[in-house]
Amino acid sequence: MINHCLCYFLNMSIRKIAGHDLAPGRIIKDHIHVDGTEIHVPHVIISGAADGPVLLVTAGIHNAEYVGIQAAIELSSEIDPEYLAGTLIIVPLANTSGFENRTMSMVYEDGKNLNRVFPGDENGTASDRLAHLIFNTFIRHADAFIDLHSGDGYEELFPYVYFLGDTACEEKSAAMASCVNTEFVVRSRCRTGGAYNMASVNGIPSVLIERGQLSQYPREEIDADKADVINIMKYLGMLKGVHTAYTKTPLFERELFSPATGCWYPEYHAGDTFFSGELLGTIRDYFGNTIHEIKAEETGIIIHQCASLNILKNGPMISYGVF
Ligand SMILES: [Zn+2]
Repeated sequence: MINHCLCYFLNMSIRKIAGHDLAPGRIIKDHIHVDGTEIHVPHVIISGAADGPVLLVTAGIHNAEYVGIQAAIELSSEIDPEYLAGTLIIVPLANTSGFENRTMSMVYEDGKNLNRVFPGDENGTASDRLAHLIFNTFIRHADAFIDLHSGDGYEELFPYVYFLGDTACEEKSAAMASCVNTEFVVRSRCRTGGAYNMASVNGIPSVLIERGQLSQYPREEIDADKADVINIMKYLGMLKGVHTAYTKTPLFERELFSPATGCWYPEYHAGDTFFSGELLGTIRDYFGNTIHEIKAEETGIIIHQCASLNILKNGPMISYGVF
């Protein structure tokens, strides 16, 4: 049973975001500058005709995860304020410099992973400053937060959704996660670094949706992302209509990092299940000699894994879920 009560929303009367005066029915499309950098963050603020919660949707925190970016761009032109209750803030591309310099999801200026440095630091490097701006200008004003991700250029991925456990807003985050049309949900325990993680720690119900892979952006994945956001908006009471709560299989995530740099030969694909003791993949040197065999220590399902020939020491290798 999902709690429909919206009384936990605190920011219903907010009237100013990112320096913009908000007024019912108004749509703002603008960029905001990150101090001490050349970075500008595009954002769209859609103020509904009726009162309601503030929902933030971000994409492109990892700039090569294109499904979410395209879904956010399309949503920002498709939500009509006349039929909206509350305020929808969309940041369609958080890491513009990575996108424009075609990094594989790192911030171009400092090579950092933006989703490891939240809530950021206004005196830090470009990533720290960017995270600080996103956190303080947008996330802090939200009553609910959706962060859209997918598989990077080197990553296979099977769709699922995260929420953070052990927080005051866990029940609401879990209810939002149930609105996402995926088979699996991961209850995370990571309380540092990530945008949705830090939002949740600060009491803002949040989910991270993972859909799409290998930096591809097929139409059906984009549409599925958009449908998830709209379904969550119905749950939040921002759009008319009855939301759908999808039955989910909960997973606990295990992350394996590569013991060496070399060539990578996985045995399975994302979405495949395996048994404890099975070979998951092999790392070979540049002469074809095996240097590591990776064997499963548990039975599980691969939710995302490295799918490029190259693999990097201490870099992501396989993330799997256990039931
Ligand atoms: Zn990501």
